[in-house]
Amino acid sequence: MATILDGKAVAASVRAEVASGVEDFRRLHGRVPGLHVILAGNDAASAVYVRNKEKAAAEVGFAGRVHRLPAEVTEDVLLGLVKELNLDPSVDGILVQLPVPKAVRAEKVLATIDPRKDVDGFHRMNVGGLWTGTESLVPCTPRGCLRLLDEAKVKLEGARAVVVGRSNIVGKPVAALLLERNATVTLAHSRTVDLAERCREADVLVAAVGRAKMIPGSWIKPGAAVIDVGMNRDEAGKLCGDVDFASASAVAGVITPVPGGVGPMTIAMLLDNTLRAARALVAARSAETLRPITGV
Ligand code: NDP
Repeated sequence: MATILDGKAVAASVRAEVASGVEDFRRLHGRVPGLHVILAGNDAASAVYVRNKEKAAAEVGFAGRVHRLPAEVTEDVLLGLVKELNLDPSVDGILVQLPVPKAVRAEKVLATIDPRKDVDGFHRMNVGGLWTGTESLVPCTPRGCLRLLDEAKVKLEGARAVVVGRSNIVGKPVAALLLERNATVTLAHSRTVDLAERCREADVLVAAVGRAKMIPGSWIKPGAAVIDVGMNRDEAGKLCGDVDFASASAVAGVITPVPGGVGPMTIAMLLDNTLRAARALVAARSAETLRPITGV
């Protein structure tokens, strides 16, 4: 029987680390990090996610607020707000909750956020930074997956890792992080041939598909570490992952449950990203101030 990775407990310790980091930041810099979230439109799920982020941000002591915009908001207005927040020195993190209303191009919005304040890690500069191993802000859910693997002391170097799902938000950045940690990574997707066989090769299996219980225990290598990112509803309307937990947990070495696995890590890593962004911004500003004046 697999060891169950308790994402709630790990997320709680990340939040506590951030809260104490916020206190240190306040002592050093006389202010707390500021996280600003933009929520445009009436998507019910987005409203819940944003409320949870707002609550978590307040709990660790961040400043900032949620900017709620109507569904009819124009792209110009939304971009105008992002630009304002880019320039505001009290703002360290900017997150635009996706999806945005139809009249607004998400790519344009993401490209407008100052990459140093892009706490979701979706800006092309940060994506490039991740793949080139350069310091950057990394998407929250993938960072959460890696933190869980580290907590379970799963050996990544030299491991065969299979990531099922290749979205920009989860699959690709998880693959990049595993590669950076010297795993041998296969990135599988809807056109992968022999998916079951590929999964059976995995010492580390990350499922990020969005299909309820599609990965059964028979696809899992005995003793493998299984990280289930999926959030789906089963036939009974109950929250479940992409992995069939009942059969998979009989074969895997460690496994994340749904709910209570990767889910709680996403917001915890958002808080951590905001603190990192705030520290980096302060360091960059003081480096600016200290730069010798040349050419005078
Ligand atoms: P996307 O829909 O953007 O991507 C799904 C990926 O799965 C695609 O790459 C797709 O392949 C692949 N796929 C679809 N069907 C199959 C199949 N039959 N076999 C193999 N691969 C397949 O989803 P996201 O990455 O945004 O999210 C994935 C899941 O993670 C969802 O359940 C989502 O709710 C959850 N999620 C959870 C989060 C959390 O905090 N816990 C955060 C973000 C997401 P192709 O590219 O070929 O179409």
